[in-house]
Amino acid sequence: HKVFLNGKIVPSADANISVFDRGFIFGDGLYEVMARIGGNYFYREAHLNRLRRGLKEIAIDFDVAVFEEHIPELLRVSDLEDKDSLLYMQVSRGAAPRQHSFPANVPPTAMMYAWEKSLPEIEPRHAHAVIKEEFRWSRCDIKSTSLLGNVMANQWASSQDAYETVFYRDGIVTEASHSNIFFVRDGVVYTHPANNHILWGITRQVVVELCETMGIPLKEEAIALSQITAMDEAFLTGTSTQIMALKTLGNHEYFASEPGPVTRKLQEGFLELKIRDSQAG
Ligand code: PMP
Repeated sequence: HKVFLNGKIVPSADANISVFDRGFIFGDGLYEVMARIGGNYFYREAHLNRLRRGLKEIAIDFDVAVFEEHIPELLRVSDLEDKDSLLYMQVSRGAAPRQHSFPANVPPTAMMYAWEKSLPEIEPRHAHAVIKEEFRWSRCDIKSTSLLGNVMANQWASSQDAYETVFYRDGIVTEASHSNIFFVRDGVVYTHPANNHILWGITRQVVVELCETMGIPLKEEAIALSQITAMDEAFLTGTSTQIMALKTLGNHEYFASEPGPVTRKLQEGFLELKIRDSQAG
């Protein structure tokens, strides 16, 4: 891989970061992932704005435009100009003597790299998900590189041949380890409101807007754990998850062979958006 690190693009073997970097020591950093489809980044501004907001929230002084400036060159040297790919961006607070509070006058560490990845037009996988009580923190709206809770939860799913672990908090379904969750009942789509208990997924927002334009009723209302079995359909959303139908959640099965009609409709609407956006620029 070629890696952008602090203003330069270098082979990954030469991309050196201090062992005292607070990203390494504390997980004191943020990240972002976006998909390049047909020559455009899908909802690029939304991703960059989320990163800007996060940086502001945790008081890291970094201009996201620095990433933007270097993306074309990174794609060129990575031989990805004419391929679909994913881009990972990370900003940490930089290297400083170990102390918990923010150090003064330390330049942040900014890194990004891209790799070839072509997402399916419509996600063909049907997810199994397991359920677990939330054991992360209460600032899930910050896209922090401190992902131990997410990593542990996803490993727990993996060990049971499931795609995801879906969290609940105080009896309310919130989100999953690396995706957001939606439910459908009687033709109405439900998803947890964008507060500090979930990451404000870009794909989540795209689906919220898609419901609006497709005339599908949507409520940003959380679903109780006790209501999971009363739902007709459920699906997950994420940048690389796209819209993935949930076949089972815990012990409950939503469908035997084919996803429900609303999930399917949204998957088709989502595909149209991708096609439209990839032809836009
Ligand atoms: N929730 C969590 C915890 C995530 O890590 C992700 C993926 N980064 C999402 C939701 C989905 O967000 P997005 O649609 O922006 O990829």
